[in-house]
Amino acid sequence: MNRTWIELDREALAHNIRRYQSLLPAGCRIMGVVKADAYGHGARAVAAQLWELGIRHFATATLDEAVQLREAGIQGEILILGYSAPAYFHLLAEHGLTQTATCPDHAAQLETYCRENGVRLKVHIAVDTGMHRIGFLPEDLDAIRRVYENGVLQVTGIYSHLCVADTDEEEHVDFSRRQAETFKSVVESLQARGVELGTVHLLSSYAAVNYPEYAYDYARLGILMFGVKSSAADYLREDLQPMPVMTLKARITSVREIGPGETVSYGRIFRAERPTKVASVSIGYADGIPRCLSGGKLRAIVRGQYAQGIGRICMDQLMLDVTGIEDVRVGDEAVFIGRQGDCVIYAEELAENAGTITNELFSRLGARVEGRCFRQEA
Ligand SMILES: *Cc1c(COP(=O)(O)O)cnc(C)c1O
Repeated sequence: MNRTWIELDREALAHNIRRYQSLLPAGCRIMGVVKADAYGHGARAVAAQLWELGIRHFATATLDEAVQLREAGIQGEILILGYSAPAYFHLLAEHGLTQTATCPDHAAQLETYCRENGVRLKVHIAVDTGMHRIGFLPEDLDAIRRVYENGVLQVTGIYSHLCVADTDEEEHVDFSRRQAETFKSVVESLQARGVELGTVHLLSSYAAVNYPEYAYDYARLGILMFGVKSSAADYLREDLQPMPVMTLKARITSVREIGPGETVSYGRIFRAERPTKVASVSIGYADGIPRCLSGGKLRAIVRGQYAQGIGRICMDQLMLDVTGIEDVRVGDEAVFIGRQGDCVIYAEELAENAGTITNELFSRLGARVEGRCFRQEA
């Protein structure tokens, strides 16, 4: 690869999927959430690999992401979790996609389109059990039932989303259980009125670990499927042992020695106190390395040893202190996430130092980062 790239580990993904499958009840299938380019990992490669692993259900955030998956040859169910606008509804039919009805008004837009065009779009109904982002309200049972029974839309499922399922704080556990029970009562009331619900789903990554008793038909897995926690401090049961799928690398592009008192990069915030060997690397904030990690809050692995970031991170480059690391050469690989030799850098570390979660860090990896494919078998 030329300058900055992502390598994916097939075994790690397979391991994570296997571990999850063993935690979930037999009837619950995994829906691979591959929104935001599969959390920066590369939706095409990840979805194709999930297919190899037997997964037949996928979710994206947007219509565009879903169309791109179809164009890459991904079959099976693709559920769009977010709103799509009426002007693009023809793509839903064309590509056999499933659209979330995000609220009664959105359902009405979908119905109007179907009536006017004589098609039946596939829809899952979102239920707002307390996150207050999208969904029909639980007390709108009749509205939900009308969407199921009007014969215009093909409603193939219903789901909700938990918003504090990732902690074990008592207050949050109570709230999650209340959300899950609200959803359960919606499901049971509709069933009691004879509604054929299609697939029912509630759990995302952390929810599936912490509340498997509410598994229903799918677990919608994102971040933990990639073997990474949102935050280092998150509690996870020991036996899950997620394995990171992503390695992020860039090349060393220049090596120079500077003397005491000399400075490195914009703003001159790094000043050498001793003779220092500086390596420049072809990765910067445009590639997704947060600029707030400037000033030594970043490290990389070079020739099997840790090297500290120094100075300001630039748009396309950053500098490392490689003093004391032998034989550093132009063209060498520097690892920013992943392993080399005995050293390892976790995405959780980068995210924490940048004051964010790995989900955001990953989803901001830039479009010009290359690779995003699984390593070829040796
Ligand atoms: C993003 C998302 C998921 C996946 O969440 P993770 O925590 O990454 O597993 C599941 N469901 C919905 C509705 C989402 O928006």
